[in-house]
Amino acid sequence: MLLHCSPSGNDDGLPEPGAWQRQLAGAIRDPRALCQRLGLDPSWLAGALSGHELFEVRVPEAFAARMRIGDPHDPLLRQVLPLANEVDDTPGFVTDPLEEAQHTARRGLIHKYAGRVLLITSPACAVNCRYCFRRHFPYSDNAPTRLQWDETLNYLRDDTSLREAILSGGDPLAASDRQLAWLVARLDGIAHLKRLRLHTRLPVVIPDRVDGVMLDWLATTRLQKVMVLHINHANEIDDAVIAACARLKAVGVTLLNQSVILKGVNDDVDSLEALSERLFEADILPYYLHAFDPVAGAAHFAVSDEDAEALMAELRTRLPGFLMPTLVREIPGEASKTPLQGV
Ligand code: SF4
Repeated sequence: MLLHCSPSGNDDGLPEPGAWQRQLAGAIRDPRALCQRLGLDPSWLAGALSGHELFEVRVPEAFAARMRIGDPHDPLLRQVLPLANEVDDTPGFVTDPLEEAQHTARRGLIHKYAGRVLLITSPACAVNCRYCFRRHFPYSDNAPTRLQWDETLNYLRDDTSLREAILSGGDPLAASDRQLAWLVARLDGIAHLKRLRLHTRLPVVIPDRVDGVMLDWLATTRLQKVMVLHINHANEIDDAVIAACARLKAVGVTLLNQSVILKGVNDDVDSLEALSERLFEADILPYYLHAFDPVAGAAHFAVSDEDAEALMAELRTRLPGFLMPTLVREIPGEASKTPLQGV
């Protein structure tokens, strides 16, 4: 097993235990601090303060360190910097664009598609992405207690058609390893489950999250493990992210990526090509490119389906098929995600 040493690593080549919690606790949570850290012109502050009122700023230093100083259009900064127009009421942009409230079968459990269920494992995220379709999600109503977990686990035991449990959030890896090991051990004991999937951005924004404690519970489950990372731009993948991915691969985790098409971040073919190439360097396969979900407060990120499809057609002329993500839209009530045709 080849494990890489991170900047905060110890002798066994793994991040220091607890390093990720300290980085999470120390994340930038003040718009003033964010603007100052990135050397932005003071004119950006008023907008950042008003957007922050609606959805608070949260940016770990390890992620901020990959942004260009003094550039408000940096593609990583754009994902996390609140803007004044987040307060605009744009017709068609709503608080629950995927109508998830209707599919919450139990507290913290979303059962939309056949064969798999999504468990809201942690209400928190390590980074608050301004375009997030769950930026208005009532997490406080969906954070289960241990007793409610028992009810959720009974639901999974009773439905023998289920093959896969998806840990989501928030970010499931914002939960403690003690909680995650407890939950995964119980999922392990449900004989009809085959796969454990985690949807997370934490190994990207704080690569030290992938430490020895986490690798222990991942290595010991009998379930096949899939991790769907969330990376929108090639600049998000630095050496520490590549090393974290190597640690995950070493314990048998299949790594996929989903992105969102975002105006000003990756809505050009050069950016999408560079992203796929860089993902493969990190041993991650492109999986989905999500069409933009019309969530209130994020209209400035919207890219039309026609423009997204045109970008995909051009991208297809540059990349081998295995580096092409599938452009999809999630349509409330549909039995699966809907691939967009492409031209
Ligand atoms: S759920 Fe994902 S996209 Fe939304 S804020 Fe958290 S990390 Fe970002």
